[in-house]
Amino acid sequence: MKAAKGTVCKDIAIVGGGPVGAAAALGLARAGHGVTLLEARASMLADDRRTLAIAYGSKLILEDLGAWPAVSEVTPITNIHVTQKGHFGQTVITAEDAGVPALGYVMRYNALVEALVRALTATSIEVITGAAVTRVTPHEDKTEIHWGEGATAQFCAARLAVLADGGRALTAATFGTPKESPYTQVALVAQVHTDEMPHGRAYERFTPSGPVALLPFERHYALVWTGTQAEVEALVALPDEIFLTRLQRYFGDRAGQFLRVNARSWFPLTLKVVKQVTRPHAVCIGNAAKTMHPVAGQGFNLGLRDAAGLCRVAQGVSRESLGDADMLARYVRLRARDRRAGIGLTHALVTGFSNRLPLLPLLRGNALTAMNLLPITRRALARVMMFGVSSRG
Ligand SMILES: Cc1cc2nc3c(=O)[nH]c(=O)nc-3n(C[C@H](O)[C@H](O)[C@H](O)COP(=O)(O)OP(=O)(O)OC[C@H]3O[C@@H](n4cnc5c(N)ncnc54)[C@H](O)[C@@H]3O)c2cc1C
Repeated sequence: MKAAKGTVCKDIAIVGGGPVGAAAALGLARAGHGVTLLEARASMLADDRRTLAIAYGSKLILEDLGAWPAVSEVTPITNIHVTQKGHFGQTVITAEDAGVPALGYVMRYNALVEALVRALTATSIEVITGAAVTRVTPHEDKTEIHWGEGATAQFCAARLAVLADGGRALTAATFGTPKESPYTQVALVAQVHTDEMPHGRAYERFTPSGPVALLPFERHYALVWTGTQAEVEALVALPDEIFLTRLQRYFGDRAGQFLRVNARSWFPLTLKVVKQVTRPHAVCIGNAAKTMHPVAGQGFNLGLRDAAGLCRVAQGVSRESLGDADMLARYVRLRARDRRAGIGLTHALVTGFSNRLPLLPLLRGNALTAMNLLPITRRALARVMMFGVSSRG
């Protein structure tokens, strides 16, 4: 077997050029560090069907990094209409309640990655594509990163390795097997057109089989419909007309009459949490550190705040101290509360609203009605969803 070829990495090597890894690269370079970004795909550009709701707080971070997509690529969410199927109670959270121009923005995953790639090309960050990392080995003073196979195998050493691989086998091999609770639900995603323009309104409807969300996107909606795998596979296979009739029956007519659907596909859903997100001279962020249900649209937002937190603690750190115990402990402290709150809130929404216990619909209905009557609680919830929970430390 041929030995892997040693090469030189900058002081920080980021594994994974998805939206979180790319944002971390931009921020860490801005903090004055040399950064190498390793992406498995042959190109940095993504080919993904996901549509993401990005919170107002994340917009501010991305704008600061010079990576906010063009106006034509993003659709503002100005209000969110929350209901539960078959029971009373609703609440409407508005941008006005929260004192911001929009609660969030909907865009294609691919458009977000494109904006980040444009920003990367204007920096001196070294980007290596086609680099599927196979092993990350932390040492006392550095971390070794191996990628490629056979004749193309290479490795380098960095003062700090940042894993942003989306939570794949590599993360488990480096940081230990994450605690995993697969949901009984999977998510169907599609684009649906109705006879009414969305006008910035998003819908979150909780049902015993799982939540259904409609996000305003351009002149139509991005649909996320959760259910068991068997239910969702059957829905994906239905002819368009029958699918639309089912959706109408399930969702009601609050968004108008469903007219067209395209690009149906589905994603598995799981809650995966890495217990210890640091190793000497290594840290995992974004989906690598936790993968969540998309119900509250928090996954990327939380991951982006991981990236921003890491950049904050790396600010002013010398080359020698990069990735040392003190720096990584500061990172863990800074992110602990927001991470716990984001994971806890999302999990509580999924399990609380899908639970069929007899008294729960009544309690949930009362909670939604109370929230609708109390602007202060709507504002508090909206601000947590938009900006996360700051650290006490
Ligand atoms: C249906 C659905 C809807 C969602 N909706 C929302 C939403 O509305 N709002 C929200 O905030 N979040 C949402 N999310 C979650 C969001 O998509 C993720 O949190 C986000 O993509 C995480 O970004 P990431 O960069 O950490 O990981 P990823 O996006 O998974 O990117 C990981 C990158 O690492 C690369 N990679 C993987 N392995 C290696 C390797 N060994 N070597 C080198 N590179 C590697 C991959 O090619 C990829 O480019 C949703 C998720 C789903 C499934």
